[in-house]
Amino acid sequence: MCIFCKIISGEIPSEPVYQDEHLLVIKDIAPAAPVHVLILPKKHIDNISQIDAELAAAVFPKIKDIAKLLGLEENGYRLVVNTGKDGGQTVNHLHIHLLGGRELAWPAG
Ligand code: 5GP
Ligand code: ZN
Repeated sequence: MCIFCKIISGEIPSEPVYQDEHLLVIKDIAPAAPVHVLILPKKHIDNISQIDAELAAAVFPKIKDIAKLLGLEENGYRLVVNTGKDGGQTVNHLHIHLLGGRELAWPAG
């Protein structure tokens, strides 16, 4: 079982910021911004290349609610989905980084 599946199953304890039937949202262990959470689909897929319409529909409409919950609605935020080696993905369970709380630099390194 991958590390995020262990968190989702409760084998590794976490303090969810938000959760519903399809999603678990947790704080990143190494935050890169004042607000940095990981949106985890409860169903394991390796990365965004494997997403289907059903999962996309369960995830994307929730993002605005999670951003609002975290107080990011007014100033904005960034979503990052690292994918594969060149994308810098280190955990092979699809996760969407949601970052905010300061002005973020662009472009990515
Ligand atoms: P990636 O580089 O795959 O896009 O991002 C993986 C993210 O997961 C990293 O930002 C890393 O800090 C975070 N992470 C790795 N292991 C854990 C963990 O056990 N708990 C939490 N909360 N975050 C983790
Ligand atoms: Zn997993």
